[in-house]
Amino acid sequence: MDSTAAGGTGDGPVDHVFNPRAFEGGPTAAAGPERITELGLRPATLEEFVGQDPIVRNLRTHLGAAMGRSEPPDHVLFCGPPGLGKTSLARILSEELGSELQATSGPALDKPRDLLGLLTNLKRGDVFFIDEIHRIPIAVEEYLYTAMEDFRVEMTIDSGPHARVLPITVEPFTLVGATTREGLLSAPFRARFGLVQRLDPYPASDLVLILHRAAKILGVSLDDEGAVLLAERSRGTPRIASRFLKRARDWAQVEGTTVIDGAMAAKTLRNIGVDDQGLEEMDRRILRCLADHLPRPAALKTIAAVIGETEDTIEDVFEPHLLRTGLLQKTSRGRIITGLGLEVIGRDRSELTQSDGAGPLFDS
Ligand code: ADP
Repeated sequence: MDSTAAGGTGDGPVDHVFNPRAFEGGPTAAAGPERITELGLRPATLEEFVGQDPIVRNLRTHLGAAMGRSEPPDHVLFCGPPGLGKTSLARILSEELGSELQATSGPALDKPRDLLGLLTNLKRGDVFFIDEIHRIPIAVEEYLYTAMEDFRVEMTIDSGPHARVLPITVEPFTLVGATTREGLLSAPFRARFGLVQRLDPYPASDLVLILHRAAKILGVSLDDEGAVLLAERSRGTPRIASRFLKRARDWAQVEGTTVIDGAMAAKTLRNIGVDDQGLEEMDRRILRCLADHLPRPAALKTIAAVIGETEDTIEDVFEPHLLRTGLLQKTSRGRIITGLGLEVIGRDRSELTQSDGAGPLFDS
């Protein structure tokens, strides 16, 4: 089944070939048994996949049509922030097709040769999943083009006047790419995917369903009030929702309670440092860093250095929610906190307008 090796976080480099079933947590993910439980939480079929209705409909239609023609489905690109279900959908595709999933990630594909072994191992109809596909080097990307279009690759043997090009045939396969940064993919690469699907953050009502499903799998009792509270603080992300649920299960267990109700959910969120806006300590640190920079915007690398996170993690994991909720803005000169952002961390909106004589805050 899967190619196996160490897992990744979805936000940083991973080992050569990784196992998508261990590919769960995000930067604050747990390892070990917690991950094993996480595997059981993944939806295995389109039927079990909650929400993202237009995407599910498109996939169902395309899979049905391709299977009817006895052809592998077109290549698919899933875009969107971490934890929204891109890896789950790649797995579901292979399950629905009854094929195998071979998986790797962009940072593992350093040279075209890394790709060659994986491509030539594919069997007819396999799903070849590349996570963080925006991170593959251009040489590898170009090598993929002929594999995607004509199911063949060309390998150059020897060099100089003795160089020969050896054509190698690849079994027809479906490439599934996942990316948190669609904008970093080159236009020719993106154009080679027949289906480009963008996942949006989930409404709380979908997260409630996801939480109830997860509670059933984990064998915990979750009432509606508890589910709504956890869902509302999960910033539209199923992975965060299930992390909160697991923590609530811990607290309920320690306190000898059998049901995770509103009070237990609220207590858990308080204990793990999630505030009313669903912000966690790292979000607040980013906002405090930006507030300390006022009235100037702060460069991404400055924020990274101050809070001790990578630029990629800030951009992929924390920033989307801060932007969406209007707590942070991006300008051509860097990131800046908004009036609302200042209020959320207990600072005064007037800090925004206090000038240090450095000129206008925003470019026109
Ligand atoms: P991504 O690849 O986008 O980072 P994943 O596919 O790894 O996200 O999803 C993270 C976790 O969230 C999964 O293990 C699964 O438990 C849960 N999840 C994601 N999307 C859904 C969904 N639509 N329905 C149910 N659970 C989901």
